[in-house]
Amino acid sequence: MTLLSSDSVTSFGPAVALACRECGTRTELGPHYACLECFGPLEVVYDVPRVTREQIAAGPQSLWRYKDFLPVPADVASQPGLRPGWTKLVKADNLARELGIRSLWVKDDSGNPTHSFKDRVVAVALSAARQLGFTTIGCASTGNLANAVAAAAARAGLRSVVFVPSDLEAGKTVTTAVYGGTLVAVEGSYDDVNRLCSEVAADQPWGFVNINLRPYYAEGSKTVGFEVAEQLGWHLPEQVVAPVASGSLLTKVDKAFKELGAAGLVEATPYKVFGAQATGCSPVSQAYRDGTDVVRPVRPKTIAKSLAIGNPADGPYALDVVRRTGGAIADVSDEEVVEGIRLLARTEGIFAETAGGVTVAVTRKLLAAGLLDPDAETVILNTGDGLKTLDAVAPVVGPSATIPPSYDAFQKAGLA
Ligand SMILES: *Cc1c(COP(=O)(O)O)cnc(C)c1O
Ligand SMILES: [Zn+2]
Repeated sequence: MTLLSSDSVTSFGPAVALACRECGTRTELGPHYACLECFGPLEVVYDVPRVTREQIAAGPQSLWRYKDFLPVPADVASQPGLRPGWTKLVKADNLARELGIRSLWVKDDSGNPTHSFKDRVVAVALSAARQLGFTTIGCASTGNLANAVAAAAARAGLRSVVFVPSDLEAGKTVTTAVYGGTLVAVEGSYDDVNRLCSEVAADQPWGFVNINLRPYYAEGSKTVGFEVAEQLGWHLPEQVVAPVASGSLLTKVDKAFKELGAAGLVEATPYKVFGAQATGCSPVSQAYRDGTDVVRPVRPKTIAKSLAIGNPADGPYALDVVRRTGGAIADVSDEEVVEGIRLLARTEGIFAETAGGVTVAVTRKLLAAGLLDPDAETVILNTGDGLKTLDAVAPVVGPSATIPPSYDAFQKAGLA
């Protein structure tokens, strides 16, 4: 493992240490991810930043406007990188009308450089990799992370080695391979891939963004929460619906809202965090329904492959957040996922990938169940782009008619 250089503490910016999420034991900042006392996962801890709304607003139009809340050096915005983030928050009035909800927003992270929110986590992990001296970065991925790692490594001039399940959509493998890194297709599920990567990470001097760099990686997801609050005019929404794969994004949106409150940038008003899964891979939703905090691993079978993690590392923490804030978690069938994709596209002109379809469909389900309040300001997270998962909708949408090139034929088709 690479050792820290002596100036390393300042090069992680405002971060002061890693702390165990289970027992609180602190570890120095480094390529560590498990507690030496209890093997619990580590998380970055900070001094509360002293920064004003005006300073943030004057920052770059990327996630680096929140560098004072991230384990990155002060000059991070000038490092070579893809500069993701600062994506659109879309007021979704048409979808709101359709769903019967008063005030609805879509945070559209398909606008990131490789078209998913994973560019955020990779940007922070890559900065940490640079501080720690890694020249090869890798990941275990359900698809979008592989895209993001391969592209970011290409821009930064690093080697990438990414591992994915071999049954992935072409929209995820082609869009990874094109960046020229090493792409390993593993004959197994994501959970098999992840296990293999843990072995590789233990043996190779590589920075795996979601294994040995995971504490840093995970912090990148906070920027979704920061942006939502800033884009709403510096207040917290009352309800947020997030898709759940490992559960990290959901927990970090909560962490972001807490940090903004602690820093005095927003009023610490109450909010509820809701989780969305596909029924074919719904271990966290099942645990929520069963009223337990034990997340029982499952074997995924769903078209929502980006969310297909059967043994989610942050599942128990996601459950904690949802229960503490008064939210809920629900799951929807693959048919409902496709309906969710089509509903968002038809009402707002946003073509989401399957994960976005999961979130829209779960939002509808939670409203019908009375678990989401239709009168509360609500933000749903669209985390990826539908062009990567065309197969999901290709069987159910297509041309309204196929006609010969004559006006007569057009008239006969009855489309006028
Ligand atoms: C990875 C991913 C998620 C969820 O990520 P976790 O932080 O692992 O829960 C959601 N949506 C898309 C499109 C993703 O690629
Ligand atoms: Zn511990």
